[in-house]
Amino acid sequence: LYNEVQELKGNIRVFCRIRPFLSNEKGKATTVDHLTDNGELVIVNPSKHGKNNNRMFKFNKVFGPEASQEKVYLDSQPLIRSVLDGFNVCIFAYGQTGAGKTYTMSGPNSPSKENMGVNYRALYDLFDLSQSRRSTFAYEIEVQIVEIYNEQVRDLLSNNTQKRLDVRNISQANGIAVPDASLYHVKSPTDVIDLMQIAHTNRAMSATALNERSSRSHSVVTVHVRGTDLKSRTSLNGHLHLVDLAGSERVDRSEVIGDRLREAQHINKSLSALGDVIFALAQKSSHVPFRNSKLTQLLQTSLGGHAKTLMFVQINPDVESYSETSSTLKFAERVSGI
Ligand code: ADP
Ligand code: MG
Repeated sequence: LYNEVQELKGNIRVFCRIRPFLSNEKGKATTVDHLTDNGELVIVNPSKHGKNNNRMFKFNKVFGPEASQEKVYLDSQPLIRSVLDGFNVCIFAYGQTGAGKTYTMSGPNSPSKENMGVNYRALYDLFDLSQSRRSTFAYEIEVQIVEIYNEQVRDLLSNNTQKRLDVRNISQANGIAVPDASLYHVKSPTDVIDLMQIAHTNRAMSATALNERSSRSHSVVTVHVRGTDLKSRTSLNGHLHLVDLAGSERVDRSEVIGDRLREAQHINKSLSALGDVIFALAQKSSHVPFRNSKLTQLLQTSLGGHAKTLMFVQINPDVESYSETSSTLKFAERVSGI
């Protein structure tokens, strides 16, 4: 069974993914020295020379630049499938802007079958598997997609994306954290594609001319699964959260003012709140500080307890990104509890 395998390894796992150089980046030097099949990654500090210029990090897995979307999904699949057994699962993509978070979670715009990201594959898979169980279980799958920008939650599936939504503090396992966000019952893969496209359009529309809003906000796809055992009539609830986080790059406070500074402060606050929560969970700490950000409040029931967490740590291989890469990897190392 999927869960037995997962349980052995604990509830928090970290997969590092190094994106390839793009066609317009040919000839650039890489910060990656080498990686191994058992999750080790060694990066080189370009400003240091000699023996002590590299640093090793260890994760559950490291995907090199050639790793396909399919390969990356297959290694996440057991976790996603456990949602149909009533588990709560959170999958994040963390990293600086341009490191491949959106590519991993969604793929390119209007993706093909080959380059679809985790979001699409997860939903298709949940359909397939629920269909294959239909003689014993009746499943209902519902989807919400929201954005968190400057600690405000907005519905990406509504005509009114400007409305601010409340996050409810839910203790019961089958609760819905953002009750006022549109909730769509999906019945086929085309329904999923439609919803993803609406969310994408709404996210893009709210971007201002000056800055790419999508890199400054978190987008959260929530999948609610309810399964009823046809014989006993008992039911189970599983939640899957798929989170494309805001860019983790540090902003030089002496250089930005106004909106940009406010955005940076909000992003900083929510990413460190997320790091603190995952760290506390990994340490099995008795106090987990969920209340410190909208993001962690929203995800509360899907983090900790019997929930399973996967973080994709995204890396841009360019040596010029060394300093961001190094702090991204340190953040990931801290939360991984390995
Ligand atoms: P982020 O969401 O972290 O800002 P993106 O996902 O937008 O980064 O990736 C930046 C660019 O790199 C995009 O053009 C994207 O298509 C490309 N890219 C990222 N990861 C890959 C990959 N594994 N294979 C091919 N192209 C990728
Ligand atoms: Mg992105």
